[in-house]
Order: sequence, then structure tokens, then C-alpha cells
Amino acid sequence: MSFSYKNFSKFLLGGLSVGCVGGYFAYKNQNKPIGLNTEIYSPFTVSQITKVTPDASIFTLTPQGSIENMKNLDPISKVTIRNPDMQVQRPYTPLYINEDDFKFYIRNYEDGPVSSYIHSKKEGDTVELRGPFKTTKLDHTKFSRILGVVAGTGFAPIYQLAQNSKVPVDIIYCERPGQEPALKERLEKECPNVRVRTIQDRLISADDIFKWDGVDVPLSETLCIICGNPKFVGTVAGPKAEFGAKQGPVKGLLENSSFGKVWKL
Ligand SMILES: Cc1cc2nc3c(=O)[nH]c(=O)nc-3n(C[C@H](O)[C@H](O)[C@H](O)COP(=O)(O)OP(=O)(O)OC[C@H]3O[C@@H](n4cnc5c(N)ncnc54)[C@H](O)[C@@H]3O)c2cc1C
Repeated sequence: MSFSYKNFSKFLLGGLSVGCVGGYFAYKNQNKPIGLNTEIYSPFTVSQITKVTPDASIFTLTPQGSIENMKNLDPISKVTIRNPDMQVQRPYTPLYINEDDFKFYIRNYEDGPVSSYIHSKKEGDTVELRGPFKTTKLDHTKFSRILGVVAGTGFAPIYQLAQNSKVPVDIIYCERPGQEPALKERLEKECPNVRVRTIQDRLISADDIFKWDGVDVPLSETLCIICGNPKFVGTVAGPKAEFGAKQGPVKGLLENSSFGKVWKL
């Protein structure tokens, strides 16, 4: 079979088309922002803001780059968000992992440089994220029950863990007087293995932690996670060690408890 001039032109045209398409995608990717990564901040679009309480909203952040590093995450994963004007960063916990976007439940502190910066954003604006990072090295899969003792936005890490856990998860959710314990019903609806007990207008007691109906898992097989501001963590389980990520001794309401593990986030 002879290779005619006509065949040659077809071959050349085909080759050129493949080259052009390849070149176009190479050009496009070169201009595409880098996706989530641990080294540098990458841009995310504020695609939705849902007000949950007067001072807290769910922010849906969609990556402008690749979603690759948002997949295969282990709970409890977190990212940092920065206020570039002040070069301040803070950790935040996505409510769901292994999705194409992140949803964060974030409370606004008027004197807080990062939370107020995030709350100043409108849908369509850009914020910068870095991560993912592991919040704890603890292996939650070793336990047959999880008990969360949380306050305020400390609900977010246990929300993510509960979404990704098959064992029963009981949560004591403390909120400030007058603050509604947001997302409680949403989590219970999404996760049949979850029960949330709310506490408002009074201090948490040992009975709130230890007295639950219908529990057949011994405390020795239960992981107790505490998350909230330092005062709350100190009251429930004693303060974390001052330096590094050390846990410090278990004190407060959980002193002498027989939980398999007590873990302060
Ligand atoms: C691992 C981890 C995960 C987190 N995940 C979330 C999350 O998903 N959603 C979220 O909203 N926050 C979360 N936080 C808290 C968040 O990182 C910031 O601390 C918070 O948004 C305030 O930051 P800021 O820069 O605005 O204010 P800051 O400068 O940190 O504080 C400003 C003022 O607010 C007060 N304040 C700050 N945090 C609290 C608090 N928790 N309770 C009571 N008073 C407080 C401070 O005492 C201060 O007066 C997380 C923290 C950690 C350590």
C-alpha cells in the first residue's frame, strides 16, 4: 500500500490537532491555581454562606484548583485559613471530608482577626486555605463507642468524626446561655448512630457525661474526646500541657474515670 500525499496531509492535520489540544490543556493547567496542599496557601471560592445562628454560619468553600488532596482524608482532618492582610492563620475543621468542597461551621468573634475576616466575605469572594492536617494522631477505630464532650464550635471536629464512624457516638454539646446548639438535629438526622445531649444555661456535671441510657459498651472500650475553649477543656478533663501538643494529666470531671482513652483536642 502506498502512502499518498492525501493520507500524509490527513496524518499531519491529525497530529497538529492533537498537539494543539494538548497544548491548550497544558496552557490551561499552567494557569490553574494549585489545589489544597500543606505547603502553600491555595485559593477557594466562597460558594455559599448559610447563616445558622446570629453569629455563626456555614461557609461552603470550593477549590479553584485540583480537588485531589481533598480526597482519602482521615478524620479528624483540619485546614488552616489565613487573613492575608494581617498574616494570621487559624485552624478550622470541615464538617465533611472526601467531598468536592469543604463546609465549615464558623463563629464570628468581633475582635478575632481570622473569624471576623471570614465573616466579612460574601458569596463569590476568595479565601485561602492550607492543609489538610491531622488534628490528632489518635486511632479512633480501636474503640467500640465514642463520647464527645464539646462546647461551641468544638462541635465541628466531633461532627466530622461522627460522619465517619460506624460505632455509637454520644455527644454532650454545651452552648453559652441563649445560644442555640446549632447543627444538633442535622447531625442526628444524617447519622443514626449519633445521639446529642445539649446543655445550656447551666454548668456541665459528671452525671451528664456518665449517665446515658441503652449503653452496652463498657467505659474501658469508650473513647472520650473533649473539645472546646481552654477553660471548658480544663473543667471537664484538666488543662492540656502548656507547651507542645501534650495532653497533660486527666483532671476535672473525668479524673479517676475508667474510659479507654480521654483525649483533649
Ligand atoms: C483544631 C481546631 C479546630 C478548630 N475548628 C474550628 C471550626 O471548625 N470552627 C470555628 O469557628 N472555630 C474553630 N476553631 C477555632 C479557630 O481556630 C479560631 O480560634 C477562632 O475562629 C477564633 O479565631 P480569631 O483569629 O478570629 O480570634 P482569636 O484571636 O483567636 O480570638 C479572639 C477572641 O475570641 C475569643 N475566642 C476565640 N476562640 C474562642 C472560643 N472557641 N470560645 C470562646 N471564645 C473564643 C478569644 O478569647 C478572644 O477574645 C478551631 C480551633 C482548633 C484548635
